[in-house]
Amino acid sequence: MVRVARHVNSLLEVNTYLVYGDSGEAVLIDPGSDVGGYLGLARSLGVRVAVIAATHLHPDHVAGLRTSAELTGAPVAYCPEDLPAWRALLRLARAWGLPVEEERLPEPDLDLCGPAELVVGGVRLVALRAPGHSPGSVVLYEPVARAAFTGDVIFMGGVGRVDFPYSDPEAMAETLARLRRLLPPEAELHPGHGPSTVMERELLLNPFLAGEPEPGG
Ligand SMILES: [Zn+2]
Ligand SMILES: [Zn+2]
Repeated sequence: MVRVARHVNSLLEVNTYLVYGDSGEAVLIDPGSDVGGYLGLARSLGVRVAVIAATHLHPDHVAGLRTSAELTGAPVAYCPEDLPAWRALLRLARAWGLPVEEERLPEPDLDLCGPAELVVGGVRLVALRAPGHSPGSVVLYEPVARAAFTGDVIFMGGVGRVDFPYSDPEAMAETLARLRRLLPPEAELHPGHGPSTVMERELLLNPFLAGEPEPGG
């Protein structure tokens, strides 16, 4: 039985998720700004953070990455192709006056760019490459529970912006076409911001996913 718990962070309302099975070992996804909030949630659920993963390196999603890695000792997983985007967005975020202070990220213990899986106490998350919003974006998919952690790729009723430095609108279109094929209609989607949804609903109501698949796409 795979369970999902969510903490909404104060910085840009990023969703941090704890995904865990019966063993009580958890994957922490997108460690946002409120380290005390989501590590406190893990404690109250009685789960131990066994690995920390980022769907992408935009600073709001990894604001607590270094601190939570230091506090838990858990290995870190992300796609380092996002590092240039992280640096560029960090400068932008500071210019906007956002309280983003992370000066460096821990090296990834596990590279999510390649074919990669996170297997932790009954939870198996497959990293699906999903470039577009950022070059190193991944969707983390649990095929048994049919739960997808979509980062800033798919939201309820929308998709991630592609006007940031290092965004790529064409790659995003290919990513969305591929995810439409890969994710079953019953898949639960847990995005990086906003409420969770179901693929079937998005195929009907999300203007970026509805409609006929492109030929050969
Ligand atoms: Zn983002
Ligand atoms: Zn975001």
